[in-house]
Amino acid sequence: MANSQYEYVKVFEQDPILLPNTWLVVRIDGQSFHRFSSTHEFEKPNDSRSLHLMNRCATYVFDQVNDVCIAYGESDEYSFVLRRDTEYYGRRAYKLASSIGSIFTARYVFHWSEYFPDIPLKYPPSFDSRVVAYPTVKNLRDYLSWRQADCHINNQYNTCFWKLVQSGVTKADAEKRLSGTLSANKNELLFTDFNTNYNDLPAMYRKGSIVVRDYVNEEYMDKATSEMRTRRKMRTVVIHEDLIGDKFWNTRPHILG
Ligand code: ATP
Ligand code: ATP
Ligand code: MG
Ligand code: MG
Ligand code: MG
Ligand code: MG
Repeated sequence: MANSQYEYVKVFEQDPILLPNTWLVVRIDGQSFHRFSSTHEFEKPNDSRSLHLMNRCATYVFDQVNDVCIAYGESDEYSFVLRRDTEYYGRRAYKLASSIGSIFTARYVFHWSEYFPDIPLKYPPSFDSRVVAYPTVKNLRDYLSWRQADCHINNQYNTCFWKLVQSGVTKADAEKRLSGTLSANKNELLFTDFNTNYNDLPAMYRKGSIVVRDYVNEEYMDKATSEMRTRRKMRTVVIHEDLIGDKFWNTRPHILG
């Protein structure tokens, strides 16, 4: 094909190819969701509608992008892990990050009204997106553990903060009350002042959300005998479990295998 005299400008393009044989993690994060969540009347500290909408979008990305083997989400963010041998977009960093960010954002707007039927979108939300390559399973697991620990720390703080505020304490005083407290102090505060056992809060708030393919038991009708039976099937599921310890990985060797 004849090239135009202008085409030489392509040599200025840079699109780094991520190192081969590394886990690729794309993390998207809502832009100014502090403001977006207040404009759209999110319940504090955890709006479950928003979390379920995030999970819906993440499940779509997970199923759409075959090489995504696990995704982890909390708050306004989601991380998508691509298998270390992925050739998605030729491992081109900008293409990868921008396309996953865009697929996710479009879905978020597309499904909004199913999760917030009473709250119309006042302006379109957007998400930023980055991609990082991790060379070892330890690095990858530490990355996911870092995000789940972040989820826990924020949730514990925010749960205390909003309990105090909802009990009539000003936001400034709630902040003061919590500054410098340890994890155990916060659990103690929740228990003694608010009769709340932190571990009884929904696992989605405490542990975040994990999208994986996993075995589930499904009922089906055996045509020959007309009896109901169960079979084990691989399905895309959203679960809320600890992924810091070994148990999660040992029981699901197929995720990183
Ligand atoms: P940035 O553009 O830098 O990411 P941000 O305002 O989005 O700014 P984050 O650190 O990403 O800052 O924090 C997201 C904020 O969005 C939370 O602090 C919280 O106020 C709000 N938020 C996100 N998800 C929820 C939710 N499910 N329920 C309640 N609030 C939420
Ligand atoms: P890729 O994902 O690689 O970008 P693509 O199908 O989007 O694949 P492009 O080279 O970007 O390929 O070409 C965009 C195509 O979209 C055009 O070839 C044309 O078929 C269609 N298209 C885009 N804009 C218009 C438009 N305004 N009117 C009609 N067709 C359009
Ligand atoms: Mg954000
Ligand atoms: Mg997948
Ligand atoms: Mg965030
Ligand atoms: Mg195109």
